[in-house]
Amino acid sequence: MKSVLIGVGQAGGKLARELVEYDERMGFGSVRGAVAVNTAKTDLQDLPFETVLIGQDRVKGHGVGGDNELGAEVMQSDTQEVLSALDGRVVAGTESIFVVAGLGGGTGSGGAPVLTRELKRIYDVPVYGLGILPGKDEGSMYQVNAGRSLKTFAREADSLLLVDNDAFRSVGESVTEGYDSINHEIAQRVGLLLASGEAVEGVAESVVDSSEIINTLRSGGIAALGYASAEAAPDAEENINAVMSTTRRALLTGSSLPDATDADAALLIVAGDQDAIPRKGVERARRWVEEETGSLQVRGGDFPLSSDRIATLVLLGGVERSERLETFLQRAKDAQEEDVEGAAERTDPAEQWTNDELDDLL
Ligand code: GDP
Repeated sequence: MKSVLIGVGQAGGKLARELVEYDERMGFGSVRGAVAVNTAKTDLQDLPFETVLIGQDRVKGHGVGGDNELGAEVMQSDTQEVLSALDGRVVAGTESIFVVAGLGGGTGSGGAPVLTRELKRIYDVPVYGLGILPGKDEGSMYQVNAGRSLKTFAREADSLLLVDNDAFRSVGESVTEGYDSINHEIAQRVGLLLASGEAVEGVAESVVDSSEIINTLRSGGIAALGYASAEAAPDAEENINAVMSTTRRALLTGSSLPDATDADAALLIVAGDQDAIPRKGVERARRWVEEETGSLQVRGGDFPLSSDRIATLVLLGGVERSERLETFLQRAKDAQEEDVEGAAERTDPAEQWTNDELDDLL
């Protein structure tokens, strides 16, 4: 799926770079362009693609300091500059746009949903969000910001693919120490997903294409992406168990949003040497995903790759009702209630996360 990335804020820019580098390293060519947008000049300095500094009149290149309302305002005033940078990048063959941001900060948290809304008005291709949820040890400002951003981002984007910063953390590793490895895990998952949707000439019809990714995400709301890999035997028949076990691990322990298993739709992609992918195994794994997600819309396909491993990707669409998300929303609500000073000038937090509001995400 040929895509253009727009990283908003510090985490957004870093993750966009990681995705660009992964795509280049693997030689996939699915990432067709990238732009980074920020209010902080220093965060744009090391990025190897076009950058746009917004809000110079308000914050003079120093960032919005975690104020996501200011992040949203600045994006609103300077949208035109971002759109100009995209001119000529979103071209006829572009199949999707990804707006990438950390939800807990200021620029990305406030700016990404605003930019997404503008992009949807202009472009016909799906505009997806790739959003990072703060880990549970991050401060209350991050939780509150992310709670508010999540809601608007999910509403504006065609689907919001969420990554929990606690998802890929090793024991004893702080969130900051873990950034590099988390970013790598995310780039690998998203990079493989985009590449799997590329047409591969001369191979069987069981390969995945972009429309299957788009259809899996069609119900909107929140999405999650799981991954696991194992060593493969040369003979497909011997890999049935490997496909089953990587599928289970991808969904149950390798997901970007752990514990999100109830889904509206899913796409199971088995990557590996074409001769090593067992048809029977893929079908069995697909049925298992159906049972586990409670969805009758589980698509399945191959991603032929030259590798001595079998890797499984599970994309889930419509996972808003997952336990992990509810835990996070509760955390955001608690953090907002504790934030006595801020609470006085904000809307009633209790109102924000009623079930009706959650339904609005759908
Ligand atoms: P902004 O520049 O104002 O948009 O703020 P940030 O992008 O720094 O957003 C802060 C949030 O993003 C926090 O929840 C951080 O934990 C998270 N974050 C910052 N940098 C990274 C990163 O490189 N990787 C990941 N996974 N999360 C990050």
